[in-house]
Amino acid sequence: MHALRELLPLLVTGLMLMMTAPTFASPAATERAKKFIAGHDARIRPLDVASAQAWWNANISGNTDDFRKKEEAQNKIDEALANKEQFAELKAIKQLRDKGEIDDKVVARAIDVLYLMYLEKQVDPALLKKITAKANAVEQKFNVFRAKVDGKEMTDSEVRDVLKKSGESKRRQAVWDASKKVGAEVEKDLKELVALRNEMATKLGFKNFHSLMLYLNEQDGDELIKLFDELDKLTRDPFLKAKAEIDARLAKNVGKAPADLLPWDYHDPFFQESPAVFDANLDEPFQKADITQLCSTFYKGIGLPIDDVIARSSLKEQKGKSPHAFCTDIDREGDVRVLANIVANEYWMGTMLHELGHAVYSSKNIPKSVPYVLRSESHILTTEGVAMQFERFSKSRAWLEKMGVKVNEPAKFDAAAEKVRQNQLLIFSRWCQVMLRFEKAMYENPGQDLNKLWWDLVEKYQGLKRPAGRSAPDYASKIHICSAPVYYHNYMMGQLFASQVHATIAKEVYGGADPKSITYVNEMKVGEFMKKRVFEPGKTLDWRGLTKFATGTELSPGAFAADFGTKK
Ligand SMILES: [Zn+2]
Repeated sequence: MHALRELLPLLVTGLMLMMTAPTFASPAATERAKKFIAGHDARIRPLDVASAQAWWNANISGNTDDFRKKEEAQNKIDEALANKEQFAELKAIKQLRDKGEIDDKVVARAIDVLYLMYLEKQVDPALLKKITAKANAVEQKFNVFRAKVDGKEMTDSEVRDVLKKSGESKRRQAVWDASKKVGAEVEKDLKELVALRNEMATKLGFKNFHSLMLYLNEQDGDELIKLFDELDKLTRDPFLKAKAEIDARLAKNVGKAPADLLPWDYHDPFFQESPAVFDANLDEPFQKADITQLCSTFYKGIGLPIDDVIARSSLKEQKGKSPHAFCTDIDREGDVRVLANIVANEYWMGTMLHELGHAVYSSKNIPKSVPYVLRSESHILTTEGVAMQFERFSKSRAWLEKMGVKVNEPAKFDAAAEKVRQNQLLIFSRWCQVMLRFEKAMYENPGQDLNKLWWDLVEKYQGLKRPAGRSAPDYASKIHICSAPVYYHNYMMGQLFASQVHATIAKEVYGGADPKSITYVNEMKVGEFMKKRVFEPGKTLDWRGLTKFATGTELSPGAFAADFGTKK
């Protein structure tokens, strides 16, 4: 507990005091809140653990029985949070909290967090069950889907491989098209899911599911659009310049003019990643590398060891298993695991650094003195930020060499990797524009022509050309639209957070070094910084508070812009 108290700097304390006028503080209100929190822990904690365990099992096996168990566990949590008497009591406590009657900052924060958690579930339990069932049906279809070309099934990695290497536009088109077929398979379920989600939002008094979700995540729609408009301006020109250079090389690869390029001529199914077109083969250094071992050594060297996580994880491809990657904190007592499907290439090096970034920002490094309900990351965007902060090193030669990985053509790798790294940030930010604006528009008006909306945005923000006459539910082939709704903008904000924290480390740990020059390797002070300034507060600070606490300023595109060389 001391750890936490020591952490709160004057800045934050002052802010909190302003928010909770101390003159009204009442010990009775604080006691009432503490009692509610203890009751919540007793009711919900065992269900949380059971659900996390079931979710893990279902994603490993892909079998129907495990998915049913996962659904049952989720239903039990939803029922408990939907309880009307509990919510009435919580609402009363929340009103006392808003009047400043709770003098303990951590207790007050726990009430804020709980209030949003219960509010989300104050809808008809039958409706909630329908939503969970629909979401699970969609997720399961994604998990078992494999692209089929000429009667042969392909894994996600094989699809990526063709898009990365093939010089035949016909073959690329066939594979790209096959990978999009999952969209048609889930389209009907997804549309029903969107309607159900909107129904739920309306019943809670919100315009639609998108605005509900932002409210529940302590974000503001206007503020978000303002930030993304700012980013749009900041990235548009550098993006178009980078894309022209990429297009010239992609065009050569398939023997077309740049103006004739189509979406399958890019290196991943959504053009969310930077195509590897700059001579050096970024995968080459990883072909003989032991990715898991590299992660173990790296994280140990910065004082954030993860061998216990690796021991509990599932890291190899297997039939039925989810082809994606994620990290989960099963019990908020240190049982943290990663699901991945490692192949010896740069993509999986980055992905493993990413998932283990989530793993270090968990109950492994948030003290037990932080109450259970606050013992997790401050916000989605802060944990995605930390994950991406580490993920970026898979494209750094300096990092690779310090980690003992040989790079055969250093000068070539450098030029290529630096470009890819910058392009990646630019390309990703444009892709996030599509995701944010698509989801917003879809929930605002689900009856519109969504196929057209999707391609209109792709053309506007990503500068891709829609294939002539294409009218397919391509938006539905992106799993996040189905399974992680109104989430994607947090990846972008996470990138801003990553750049800002990284710049602060360069300043404070490396005495003002150029952020581009630091690799963290064997610098224990980096782990120390991350623990004290980012991990240990857990959810006791909201994302705005944590950003200030960690970096001294509000979240802004400044450090991010410096990362791709644009002056702000
Ligand atoms: Zn992540």
